[in-house]
Amino acid sequence: MDKSKEDSRKIHVLGEDVSRRIAAGEVIERPFSVVRELLDNSLDASADEMSVYLRDGGNSSIRVVDNGCGMQPADLKRCYLSHATSKISKIDDLDTLSTLGFRGEALSSMAACARLEVVSAVKDGLHPAHRLVAQGGKLLSFAACQGKSGTIVDVSHVFFNMPARKKFLKRSSAETMMCKIVFLDKAMPFPGVVFKLFIDGELKLFFERQSLLHRVTTAYNYKEHADIFSEVRAEGEGFSLVVVCAGPDLNRKDRKHIQVFVNKRRVYEYSLVQAVEYGFKEYLPGGLYPVCFVFLQIDPRLVDFNIHPAKKEVRIKNLPLIHQKLVALLKSFFAENYAFAYENRLHQARRQDSSHAMAVSFDHLFPDSALEDKKAITAQIKSLSVPEAGGKPAADFSYLGQLWKVFLVFSTEERVYFVDQHAAHERLLFDRIKSSPGAMQKLLFPISFEVSDEELAVLETIIDNLKAFNVKIQRIGENSFEIQALPEKLHSFPESELIAFLRSEKGTVEDLSRELYARAACRLAIKEGEEIDELTACELFKEVLSLTHPRCPHGRPLFYSMSKDQIFKLVGRNL
Ligand code: ADP
Ligand code: MG
Repeated sequence: MDKSKEDSRKIHVLGEDVSRRIAAGEVIERPFSVVRELLDNSLDASADEMSVYLRDGGNSSIRVVDNGCGMQPADLKRCYLSHATSKISKIDDLDTLSTLGFRGEALSSMAACARLEVVSAVKDGLHPAHRLVAQGGKLLSFAACQGKSGTIVDVSHVFFNMPARKKFLKRSSAETMMCKIVFLDKAMPFPGVVFKLFIDGELKLFFERQSLLHRVTTAYNYKEHADIFSEVRAEGEGFSLVVVCAGPDLNRKDRKHIQVFVNKRRVYEYSLVQAVEYGFKEYLPGGLYPVCFVFLQIDPRLVDFNIHPAKKEVRIKNLPLIHQKLVALLKSFFAENYAFAYENRLHQARRQDSSHAMAVSFDHLFPDSALEDKKAITAQIKSLSVPEAGGKPAADFSYLGQLWKVFLVFSTEERVYFVDQHAAHERLLFDRIKSSPGAMQKLLFPISFEVSDEELAVLETIIDNLKAFNVKIQRIGENSFEIQALPEKLHSFPESELIAFLRSEKGTVEDLSRELYARAACRLAIKEGEEIDELTACELFKEVLSLTHPRCPHGRPLFYSMSKDQIFKLVGRNL
């Protein structure tokens, strides 16, 4: 081996300057990291007002001004050194940590890869303000100066000594965007703190002191919809949860506004995002996501933030418990509060007056074997078409007719309703199948089917879950299976759809049974385009009104309704 190559393989310890810059690069990824760390410091200093000034997306300079506790001159002189912190002194302190920072690496990283200027003064008025300037890890100056209590930190020339990193800085608009996201993440869990963001001299965001709900709705432009947001709370052993969320009518096509904060830090903890999705599942159609901000406060002994240089990741000891609590909180909140108040009142009124009982039982629409061929069901709906004596719809609503063969239109004294006939029937069938799917019945002719290797891997994991709700599958060859038994009510569910289901679905017993029942109900419900007689329409409507959550199994609302008041207003008429 030639000498120079041999030398290059020898191990040597990196010089302090190089290792310092490498470490700095881990904390300071781009300008937004500076914004994050400086805001953390201001919050840790108990400031209740802070302003961020960005120049050129932070590529030129980032300044954060706060009215916090400030630093005495001796502390200020040390703050830019590696591992200099006032927040912990021994490792056990992590167990009782209540501050955002604790590593003592932020200011030192900025001093290592940028120019850092800090002016600070404490509130006691005994010490004058001082200014410290450091760059490339070296102290450039330190002297008394004019200044109010609090701290001003200026960071400029970011990555001046790391050209490779500097090359990767993006256009100022892109860096600004990222800084803005961090700014919002910081402002969200501190609604009692005033936050201002100035971009190239202009005030772009300003949050006054406000409630948590208003902080969320102001920050994410939901101000106009603030009244449909709620704040709900729950507690468990060692943790408490505050959730700010909108009802299911406000939703998005992405998960951007499902956000989780743990001990006031934004974290990307998938399990908790998933818990939110589960909580909303019955209220939102697939592909739509809620607006839901989760603020979790955990006993510091049960949580470890010391696993990611930017503290984006977190290890939580009692995560499954918190997950369950969050799902339960959301579900019970919707069950209690998201019922349609008006429809409920109507339902109660009707219950008190049993003379509205219909002559023809609605059960005809839903025969016991709910999954007979759809034609048979349609025939049964038709067979209800001659109203018998007393079979007029209840007096408190009128059926106005079918619209575009899709909607059934009803009116009451106060409202008009457009009911989606397919969705409504589907939901009611679904409820019936779900509440009594029937016992396991062996198929006279087992249905065999093949799966690909990928499908096989999934199917194997769900066989037991399927069996738990009476769908019995047996492996009969390397990639072949046989459906041997089904719950009674799924017997006439078409083979091809059953196989498609088994090839594509996975999940818990609850997920799987729900999906299969939903598919069966969808297939058997009356479709748009089909005609429906008055009596049947009225029966459907009555059942729909009795639901606490009038949504189809996939979350779509079953009807749209408008009040008389709204309609009068729309045409400029006084009631
Ligand atoms: P850490 O926040 O992990 O302690 P930093 O490098 O961010 O480390 O800050 C070092 C120390 O400087 C802090 O522990 C704190 O004592 C002090 N400090 C930093 N910023 C401020 C500020 N805005 N107000 C008061 N003290 C500050
Ligand atoms: Mg810090």
